[in-house]
Amino acid sequence: MPGNYVSAELRRLVKLRANNNCEYCKALGAYAFHPFHIEHILPLSKGGTHDDSNLANACQFCNGSKFDKTGAHDPLTGTLVLLYNPRTQFWEEHFIWSDDFTIVIGITPTGRATVNCLKMNREEATNLRAALRDFGVHPPK
Ligand SMILES: [Zn+2]
Repeated sequence: MPGNYVSAELRRLVKLRANNNCEYCKALGAYAFHPFHIEHILPLSKGGTHDDSNLANACQFCNGSKFDKTGAHDPLTGTLVLLYNPRTQFWEEHFIWSDDFTIVIGITPTGRATVNCLKMNREEATNLRAALRDFGVHPPK
């Protein structure tokens, strides 16, 4: 049984695996004021564990917006679907960038629900993406 927290070593590995970027909105950890969070994909309150297969690197906005949710409604159809899982799904299969790389567009029910639920296109995020695009570091490789 693991401890009641995510160890420093596991935190380091989760951040390294994600290149320190948010695994949901792709925000760059290197250009964030606040350290990103180690997010439990399936929340502890819903039976999730501290296993690395349940952990993701997430910016404070995605983590805070997701909170303990595991599903949300697809804004196009209203259907309740599971949120994007960065451990079992590929980002590129659910999301694309707008032509100017400032907006995350969900291209599946899961993608649309996740963009909406996590408020990925809040103004501050799109402004920062435009600046970092012009700086040559966004979108991340
Ligand atoms: Zn994020």
